[in-house]
Amino acid sequence: MNWNGVVQVIAGAAVLLMAGSFPAASQGIPQPTPASAVSASPEPASITREASGWLVDLIKINTSNPPGNEQLAAMYVSGLLQKEGIKAELLDLGPGRSAVVARLRSSVVPDPSKALLLVAHLDVVPVDKARWTVDPFSGVVRDGYMYGRGAIDDKGMLAANLAVFIHLKRTNAHLNRDVIFLATADEEGSGDASIRTLIAKYWDKFAAGFAINEGGNVFMKNGKVQYIGVQASEKVAVNVAVIARGASGHASQPTKDNPVVHLAAAIAKIGTYSAPVHFTAIVRRYFEGIAPLEDDEIAKWIRSMDTPDRGEHAQRVVSDASPLWNAMMRDTIAPTVLSAGVANNVIPAEARANLNIRLLPGDSITTLMNDLNKLVNDPAVRLEIQPNAGLAAPPSSLESDFYNLICRVASREFGGALALPFQSTWLTDSAQLRLHNVQAYGLVPFPLSDEDLKRMHGDDERIPLASFDKGVDLLTKIVTEFAVTRY
Ligand SMILES: [Zn+2]
Repeated sequence: MNWNGVVQVIAGAAVLLMAGSFPAASQGIPQPTPASAVSASPEPASITREASGWLVDLIKINTSNPPGNEQLAAMYVSGLLQKEGIKAELLDLGPGRSAVVARLRSSVVPDPSKALLLVAHLDVVPVDKARWTVDPFSGVVRDGYMYGRGAIDDKGMLAANLAVFIHLKRTNAHLNRDVIFLATADEEGSGDASIRTLIAKYWDKFAAGFAINEGGNVFMKNGKVQYIGVQASEKVAVNVAVIARGASGHASQPTKDNPVVHLAAAIAKIGTYSAPVHFTAIVRRYFEGIAPLEDDEIAKWIRSMDTPDRGEHAQRVVSDASPLWNAMMRDTIAPTVLSAGVANNVIPAEARANLNIRLLPGDSITTLMNDLNKLVNDPAVRLEIQPNAGLAAPPSSLESDFYNLICRVASREFGGALALPFQSTWLTDSAQLRLHNVQAYGLVPFPLSDEDLKRMHGDDERIPLASFDKGVDLLTKIVTEFAVTRY
């Protein structure tokens, strides 16, 4: 996109946002919601109150991916920044798809290797509307929660990043490094409009040495922060097709090479397979840290996982106790899609399944495929790696000043709760950043319970308003302490 086009788009969005009497909603870009509509807080409107209004607006802009359609959200965000006197640029990623970048300059000599990137994605996963108790694109507030697709993942963090960035601008903060705001597209699809393309086409616009993104969490248990998991690494996704072939024929005369039967047997074997345990350095530190926070029984097993005599049993107990723990210590395989058959009375020539595999960083898909081939042991069945396999990125350093600062500030703000390195089982944009030498850390700053977290890609996603406020505050402190010069 040429610069003139960018200016026109931004100016258009800004006009929509500023024209009080203009029916902006009918143009598809909601106007900022008045802070009073969101919270009954008697306090004077703070930037946190404004940010919860931005979150409502962002939820109202449906960016379900596919197809994403992030452009309207990108225009809304750039309009907000523009109104604050911050030059924001839309980065074109194809029809209807854009990212947003903006920069606050440091007062010292520019040094991209010191710059700090605030990252969040504009797109959300689709909804099954019939299963929601509220309109998923309304941002309605009920009993202290704001509901909506993206309330946590990742529009909550996007609104928090905006709040921090705009706060730095409004307070005319004296920066010791550039702070860059980046709203990405197609994070949930990892497709052609994702951060891979952004890096390939626009890297110079957001090159940075450090980044903070989603990926880790402030984990609540029984109403208290149990620990803070700061993501420094993530697993790698690979899809593998399982393909069974045979002769098609009349269903009235079954044959032994029916591919449906061979596929079903293969999937049944794969479904019971458990890959060997392998502790990465980050996961080892995570388990060391978490053991004292758990009850005595499970703590004992966590501490025994590395012992020669009881190790294997301990690994089984710990894996069984938590799907997250299980997936943190081994490659996992989830069969996700099955397809076969053209008619009820026809034996098909082919049956297929998709395996969604999540490798530990450093593990090889070839090794796992060899093990699976041996396990399936059926010449009628073939395994085939599918395109767009993820790439393993080196972990971010656990020794960097930024990592230490995130842990220190988060722990302080949550009454001394332990901050631990975290290797997410899920993917984020950070892997691509790490592949470009960015020390990227994941921390969704809002304290969230398991109950809140499990709604993230599910129904009735919601964020506790008190957690949103706390998260904005925490992120502001982290960024300020890292990037603002004190006198
Ligand atoms: Zn996300």
